[in-house]
Amino acid sequence: MSELELKAEKLDAADELAVKRAEFVREEGDGAVYLDGNSLGALPVAVPGRIEDVVRREWGELRIRSWTESGWWTAPERIGDRIAPLVGAAAGQIVVGDSTSVNVFKALVAAVRMARLTDPGRNEIVVDATTFPTDGYIAESAARMTGCTLRPAIPSEVPGVLGTRTAAVLFNHVDYRTGRLHDLPMLTAAAHLVGAYVVWDLCHSAGALPVGLDAHGVDLAVGCTYKYLNGGPGSPAFLYVREDLQDLFDSPLPGWNSHAEPFGMRPDYEPAPGAPRGRVGTPDILSMLALEAALEVWDDVTVEAVRAKSLALTDFFLECVEAYAPEGRVECVTPRAHRERGSQIALRCQGAGDVMERLIGRGVVGDFRRPDVLRFGFAPLYVGFADVERAARVLADVLAEVSTEVSAGTGA
Ligand SMILES: *Cc1c(COP(=O)(O)O)cnc(C)c1O
Repeated sequence: MSELELKAEKLDAADELAVKRAEFVREEGDGAVYLDGNSLGALPVAVPGRIEDVVRREWGELRIRSWTESGWWTAPERIGDRIAPLVGAAAGQIVVGDSTSVNVFKALVAAVRMARLTDPGRNEIVVDATTFPTDGYIAESAARMTGCTLRPAIPSEVPGVLGTRTAAVLFNHVDYRTGRLHDLPMLTAAAHLVGAYVVWDLCHSAGALPVGLDAHGVDLAVGCTYKYLNGGPGSPAFLYVREDLQDLFDSPLPGWNSHAEPFGMRPDYEPAPGAPRGRVGTPDILSMLALEAALEVWDDVTVEAVRAKSLALTDFFLECVEAYAPEGRVECVTPRAHRERGSQIALRCQGAGDVMERLIGRGVVGDFRRPDVLRFGFAPLYVGFADVERAARVLADVLAEVSTEVSAGTGA
């Protein structure tokens, strides 16, 4: 056994979260390593049985009674409260439903409307220039609809780009490509200093690291639940509206589920108080209840413990890659400093698409982001240190193989 294999064994033996692996369905195949939980979280073992019960009994037998008797109607707020402690929010501020894209739209338009309540002249939306594309597309449309100018900026240009014209700021907490963690407390304070409202996209931080929404006075936040929260493909996203802003939250999608009296079927709209004001239409119950079952894995886990293990995993991966990979073949684009690192490692590498295909062929699953980035996500609830060592070793083999082929002129 090599020195790093021994080290992995020791780290796994000392890992308090190692027991959580048994709560997830294991991938088939010897030595399979799943490092794509930042794209689609693994399946918790509790989910299939729960979904079977929801379909067969709650839907099949109870039918429409389940809206009340099985708690379907209140699921968006109930599950929001289950997510709340994971992102540092007190109960009553999060509602689950719709996709992240839709929630970005609701939050951003509502933020502009809030800003204009006290200062109607505000006409600029600042958006993360390195954002996951959907946020940028939605921000462009929200700007057009509200008569604002869109101002793309990288977080390091803040606070310089902010001013008394700024109505709202939309940032990604962790950059999906590089894994860079942005300074949420500082950027939030900078937006507040000029009187703007801030919307945070937590897709790559919810379930991966402490966010502290309440502690840092964040106004609005959105996030998806199928990455580190393991809710399943297309599971509904969440929307956080800080308690003292809820009465000011003027949704651009005021569907009947957000009405104060949804079953009053009234022609006039009166928004519900509290988090349900962020709802739109009938919730997608099957996905939502799969998510609720998936969240049970968090019952005895703190996000602080998850963060500590995540940093240890990514540190160890970098150590193994440095030890094994051919010199100069990959370049880490994820910051080394812990305070600037999310829960993934992104490596820039020539022929990254080909390299990732071969890795997946050998059971090491990460993903490829154009043009040249290999992305590896580390979900601490089911990834261990031996997995990390093996992934780095297979990566080094593949890199050696690909560069040999390149120099022999047989591959590209
Ligand atoms: C994954 C991700 C999304 C996904 O949006 P959907 O509407 O759920 O498809 C949005 N924003 C960021 C930053 C993401 O990483």
